[in-house]
This record gives sequence, C-alpha cells and structure tokens, in this order.
Amino acid sequence: MLKVEHIGIAVKNFKESITLFEQLLNTPCYKQEIVSSENVNTAFFKQGETKIELLESLNPDGVIAKYIEKKGEGIHHIAFETADIYVEMERLKNEGFILLNEKPKDGADNKLVCFLHPKTTNGVLIELCQEKKS
Ligand code: ZN
Repeated sequence: MLKVEHIGIAVKNFKESITLFEQLLNTPCYKQEIVSSENVNTAFFKQGETKIELLESLNPDGVIAKYIEKKGEGIHHIAFETADIYVEMERLKNEGFILLNEKPKDGADNKLVCFLHPKTTNGVLIELCQEKKS
C-alpha cells in the first residue's frame, strides 16, 4: 500500500461539520459528492498528502447512520491508496482478510474502492482505493 489516502469521519450534521473542519484545518472543503452506491454525502479536505472525508448518511438506516447510532460520531475508516487494487485485494484475501466486496466498486473522489471487514483488522474498517483511470 502506498500511503494513507484519507481518513473517513462519520458526522451527524454535515453543514456544521464542514464549517468545523474548515476552521480546524484552515482550508476550504474542496469537494462535496453524493456516493449513491453507499447512500452517503461526502465532503473532502486536503491536508498535505492526506485527505479528510466527512460522511453523512442520506437515509436513517444507512451504514453511516447505523454506525453513529452504535458508536457515535468519529473516525469511521482509514483508506490506503494502492498501486493496483486488484493485486492488493488478492494478496489480502490470500492472507485471510475478509473483503466486504468481491470486486472494486465506485467510491467518492473518482476512486475504485474495496473495504475489509473490521473483524479481521482489529476493529478498524480499512478501505483500499485507487484512482480511476479514464
Ligand atoms: Zn473513504
């Protein structure tokens, strides 16, 4: 894996959290995007090489809403950039990690993504990602 690409944070109030992170990081949110496959709204901030991704549920029983219900707001996942997501998925599968999707799916910010089940990663939801080549 190449680097931590972004850290995903589950939030309740999208607008308030965007303002808060703009103040905290002293940088404007550079992108907001709905990811329909996950039913979430996302907002991105750049901080050096790494990004912060705020995640808001678009429906009351979505994955982010359920997460907040269970654990409260906070860090939801860590995303690692991969040189080749297919190779990395195969490697991790062979190492015994459970992939939450068999094939990479469309994520936010022009990425192919795959998540690993937290029960095989010390309770941390891990996302693999790779820039989509157009
Ligand atoms: Zn993410």
